[in-house]
Amino acid sequence: PVNRSPEMQEERLKLPILSEEQVIMEAVAEHPIVIVCGETGSGKTTQVPQFLYEAGYSSDSSIIGITEPRRVAAIAMSQRVAKEMNLSQRVVSYQIRYEGNVTEDTRIKFMTDGVLLKEIQKDFLLLRYKVVIIDEAHERSVYTDILIGLLSRIVSLRAKRHLPLKLLIMSATLRVEDFTQNQRLFAQPPPVIKVESRQFPVTVHFNKRTPLEDYSGECFRKVCKIHRMLPAGGILVFLTGQAEVHALCRRLRKAFPPARARPQERQDQEDSVEETRKYKKSRARAKKARAEALPQINLDHYSVLPAGEGDEDREAEMDDEEGAVGSDLELDLGDDGADEGEQPDTSLPLHVLLLYSLLAPEKQAQVFKPPPEGTRLCVVATNVAETSLTIPGIKYVVDCGKVKKRYYDRVTGVSSFRVTWVSQASADQRAGRAGRTEPGHCYRLYSSAVFGDFEQFPPPEITRRPVEDLILQMKALNIEKVINFPFPTPPSVDALIAAEELLIALGALQAPQKTERVKQLQSSRLSRPITALGRTMAAFPVAPRYAKMLALSRQHGCLPFAITIVAAMTVRELFEELDRPAASEEELARLKGRRARVAQMKRTWAGQGASLKLGDLMVLLGAVGACEYAGCTPQFCEANGLRYKAILETRRLRGQLTTAVNAVCPEASLFMDPKMQPPTESQVTYLRQIVTAGLGDHLARRVQSEELLDAKWRNAYKTPLLDDPVFIHPSSVLFKELPEFVVYQEIVETTKMYMKGVCAVEMQ
Ligand code: ADP
Ligand code: MG
Repeated sequence: PVNRSPEMQEERLKLPILSEEQVIMEAVAEHPIVIVCGETGSGKTTQVPQFLYEAGYSSDSSIIGITEPRRVAAIAMSQRVAKEMNLSQRVVSYQIRYEGNVTEDTRIKFMTDGVLLKEIQKDFLLLRYKVVIIDEAHERSVYTDILIGLLSRIVSLRAKRHLPLKLLIMSATLRVEDFTQNQRLFAQPPPVIKVESRQFPVTVHFNKRTPLEDYSGECFRKVCKIHRMLPAGGILVFLTGQAEVHALCRRLRKAFPPARARPQERQDQEDSVEETRKYKKSRARAKKARAEALPQINLDHYSVLPAGEGDEDREAEMDDEEGAVGSDLELDLGDDGADEGEQPDTSLPLHVLLLYSLLAPEKQAQVFKPPPEGTRLCVVATNVAETSLTIPGIKYVVDCGKVKKRYYDRVTGVSSFRVTWVSQASADQRAGRAGRTEPGHCYRLYSSAVFGDFEQFPPPEITRRPVEDLILQMKALNIEKVINFPFPTPPSVDALIAAEELLIALGALQAPQKTERVKQLQSSRLSRPITALGRTMAAFPVAPRYAKMLALSRQHGCLPFAITIVAAMTVRELFEELDRPAASEEELARLKGRRARVAQMKRTWAGQGASLKLGDLMVLLGAVGACEYAGCTPQFCEANGLRYKAILETRRLRGQLTTAVNAVCPEASLFMDPKMQPPTESQVTYLRQIVTAGLGDHLARRVQSEELLDAKWRNAYKTPLLDDPVFIHPSSVLFKELPEFVVYQEIVETTKMYMKGVCAVEMQ
């Protein structure tokens, strides 16, 4: 029996899904697998777990599990459901990669999809669960897709054992044919229950012209117009990344400051209060982080999760941060005077909030609260607001039409972050956010002709990126013939072959015998069994190349170094981007100064002779070591051009990897030493061998002078897979060294193809 407050009960009754409770529960009782489709905001995520709870699906200490592709949603939804049900978070809990509040009393558990995948590796039948709900299935994240494939099998196995498991798949769109029409996945097409939502009409307004560059400025102007001219109702703005969100917020807060105090004064006060608070908080965090660094770290029992789970947005947002200061400044200098023209307008208070994945949960929660009396709510968000979270009271949507994603070349793995147009389906989702409580308006900052050229749907993630990490995880689950796996949408055969070949080269899968090679290359392809080394590698929550490095690092006391290097490489972008255009002379001078300082620190950390050959990886090791030694303070990071957040994340991952290594190899009895000594010369040499083994397929050879037919090959390197030249990135400590052979962490394409994370290889 659930004891909800009367107000809560009243709010729930307004949700369209409440009238479908019986239909849904009957379908669940009769079918092992049920699909529920309903518009964002219809109540799927918050209500379906409650229906199941009340119907007794968490009796006998079993758990109702719900997976979310995003960490934000897992946390926010567990809090919301606990509140609605008047239960403590000991009962309605969450688990994400680094943290959670699950207890023995947990009955409803929100988690990221990566967490459930890891649980399947420990208990293939998921016996703790009577129901598993896969939420946001329309997003088609890689882990969601794999989970659905696995669960289709687990459901049959559980049925055979007379311990039935129910699977619910929830989607915000009706596009579920990949699940219903896929006989290999579900022999019996599962029933689809559509929740009719009370969606009010949304009038869509297209721009006549499509702004080429400055869609942020266009957003600003549109919000100002709406706020000045249109009736009450919240505004939701979609932008692509964190920096843009911050910049627009700042601009809007300036243009429409809160009433009461004189505008500038108040803003200053707020800023200084905010700064002080931030500083205090970061000090508290640093202190806490220091405590975490003590020996025998066991952050939580989910010590081994696939890297990257729920990370896609975070990465995209983070990458954007590079430009943050630059673009803010630009706006402060350029636009405030000219384009806004007028005095700040205090007669029209606008309650501006931001929303993106990396934002602290307490700040995210702000958007659910009603805005102060007499103000209009304006939320500036990344695409997290597209389907995962529903913000109440939105009447106007301003959609820039763009999204930032990481793109990979499936074969070479070369990646780049790109801001591209969204799909028509996403644009319609965004528009739909305006019609939740009354008829609304959506302003699209692009023309209807441009919209007509959008893709209809975004392609599933699994078709867009390399899959070696997934294949290794699947092989560790003893799924040998990956090609037969019931993927909702299979990855391309090219991507599968590339993955399998890499894993064979790393020794994670058994290589075909020579005779086999000739006779049945085709059939033996894509069905290689995992090796003992592969199993060890699968236990490390990092990409297979890095896992291989860890697996090789037992000797010569190299593990702590390898763990640190791998953690820093996995977290990515440890250093702030200082190569950005400056907005003023002073800014330029400041940037130059910082660049010189960071370059010097990098040289110091890289050292000379043997250690310099470890290149950028030596820099990572030195930077993390020095930062830990200095107590890991934001001040140290600031002074040395390190991103504080990345440093904290590196530390958490080091903790996780340390736990994982101890689990695989208890005699190592590792602990995280805050005063790690630098490696000796022979250890550096050994580390280079380890790195070369892990990154063996990322080998590049300097082009010889006699090969220099074309000027474009000056200082260039040649890799086996690419026809075009690649270069050592100017931020690398090996930029001027130009060793003959190098291995690299990744190639990112910007103006040229640049190798990042470079280490020199010694060729005998
Ligand atoms: P769906 O999963 O179908 O998109 P949800 O269950 O997430 O829908 O949301 C249902 C309703 O609950 C929405 O109207 C939303 O505004 C409200 N809601 C969700 N989370 C919160 C919260 N933390 N605070 C207040 N209202 C919330
Ligand atoms: Mg939902």
